Amino acid sequence: MNFSRENLDKYIDTVIKGQTSDLNVPVEACLVEGPVEPCTIVIFGATGDLTTRKLAPALYNLYLTGVMPDSLVIVGAARSEMTHIQFRERIKSAVNGMDMSKWDGFAKSLYYQAVQFNSADSFNKLSKALKTLEKDLNPKGNKIFYLAIPPSFYARTSEMLGNAGLSLESQNGNGWVRIVVEKPFGRDLKTASDLNKTLHKHFKEEQIFRIDHYLAKETVQNVLIFRFANAIFEPLWNRMFIDNVQIIAAESLGVENRAEYYEESGVLRDMFQNHMMQLLALTAMEPPSLLQPDFVQDEKSKVFRSLRPFPAHDSEEVLVLGQYASGTINGEPVAGYRQEPGVNPESVIPTFAGMKVFVDNWRWHGVPFYLVSGKRLAKKMTEIVIHFKKAPHSMFQGILGEVATANVLTLGIYPDEKVSLSFETKNPGAKVCLRSVRMDFNYRQDYAGPVLDAYEKAIMDCIQGDHMLFWRQDGVELCWSFLEPLLEDCENCADRGKRLLFYPAGSWGPEAANIFKSERS
Ligand code: NDP
Repeated sequence: MNFSRENLDKYIDTVIKGQTSDLNVPVEACLVEGPVEPCTIVIFGATGDLTTRKLAPALYNLYLTGVMPDSLVIVGAARSEMTHIQFRERIKSAVNGMDMSKWDGFAKSLYYQAVQFNSADSFNKLSKALKTLEKDLNPKGNKIFYLAIPPSFYARTSEMLGNAGLSLESQNGNGWVRIVVEKPFGRDLKTASDLNKTLHKHFKEEQIFRIDHYLAKETVQNVLIFRFANAIFEPLWNRMFIDNVQIIAAESLGVENRAEYYEESGVLRDMFQNHMMQLLALTAMEPPSLLQPDFVQDEKSKVFRSLRPFPAHDSEEVLVLGQYASGTINGEPVAGYRQEPGVNPESVIPTFAGMKVFVDNWRWHGVPFYLVSGKRLAKKMTEIVIHFKKAPHSMFQGILGEVATANVLTLGIYPDEKVSLSFETKNPGAKVCLRSVRMDFNYRQDYAGPVLDAYEKAIMDCIQGDHMLFWRQDGVELCWSFLEPLLEDCENCADRGKRLLFYPAGSWGPEAANIFKSERS
């Protein structure tokens, strides 16, 4: 670079003040890769909460962004009887508040077909309706069946689809068929592998997309880019330099209107078996030789296989469980879990868990990973925090009386999608005083283009047949094998209630979870 005054000012703004992400390289929108093929998306559970709150806005926003194929057919399917027009009105109210300038075009792709999950006749009618739409709108035989339905219907619906001939792909390569399965994938190892067996009766593994929308968050994907596209961090990413890793996914919301589901699952099944394990795998995995779905999944599975088994009993050392009591969120009083509508007033379901996990391999030997997640905590936030080791010897000890603070690298996922590195500097002045400062990169920095949200990204990946952000069967089963002894120990112990520590809503969880903190540097 030529250091004229003008260039120098630009250099100070861009590099030193960090106002652009790089040296004048334009930031491009990277919304989709390659052409997006026409397709029909059948949403089972089209009248449910997930469709209304997440899928409908995601599909419409993809349409608004201009990335949807020209021949797009969306068929809502649920128990209720409804006309196409009524379904369109329903979806319209679900996207209320969004830019409605392209609504009429989108509405033309929406259709409805009532389906009873236990009626073969229903699925034959669906098949017939799809054939008619195929003829009229030409989505080229490509189909996605999205199971946004209660988990107890996953297996039956996939069997019904298979029996109606709807899982068959055409022989000439056109007309692919994919099935999207929402979480939870079973409630233990047995039910998960039974579900996998049933899915595999009619669908091949490459047709199955087990969704974990957490994985589709931009910054979650950025963990891989950060680790493996930058040469300076990977040499430090091991037991020699890292003291401990903390992964926290805190929610300030309570159980809301999902008490029935939550009473069956609790925090371990709701957050740990899926999202927390994925964040752990992305942080701990080895670099795959290529960024290809199977290569990435292979490396994640190796991490799951290396997890140190929990002690068969007395898991108190490695696990703290809690349940929220009444408290205050944003200055407003809120009820405790047991007082929430639909919750058993004597429920012993945990809404908080703090877990200490070890990855027993060469890279991570002896490094604790602290996983913490809970509902009704002080703030909604998700982050991965890498605590580096302290400097082995401090030449400032005589002056400061202590070893300098260790460096901390934070990979923020929510609310701030960021990378932040703390390091020590000297305070200005004659006296030697150290202070910790932070170097921040905000993910949206210098980028004003469109960003796909997690469900939008997951839907788009499914249309494009990209499995990178979805669970593979072996990963699901390995995680259940890891967590199952812990679940058994917690759920089958003589007095489950005694394991449970109550914490006020709006706090950071039970005080006992601080035992993890005392071990932190
Ligand atoms: P809801 O209970 O709100 O919706 C269930 C849907 O399934 C409704 O459309 C209902 O149709 C339909 N349905 C139920 N029984 C039958 C039947 N016998 N025949 C035909 N249709 C039937 O569930 P959610 O939307 O909350 O959840 C759906 C799935 O998504 C679940 O597996 C859940 O775990 C998962 N999920 C949900 C999230 C959320 O935020 N809601 C987040 C992550 C995952 P009808 O109304 O006509 O009876």
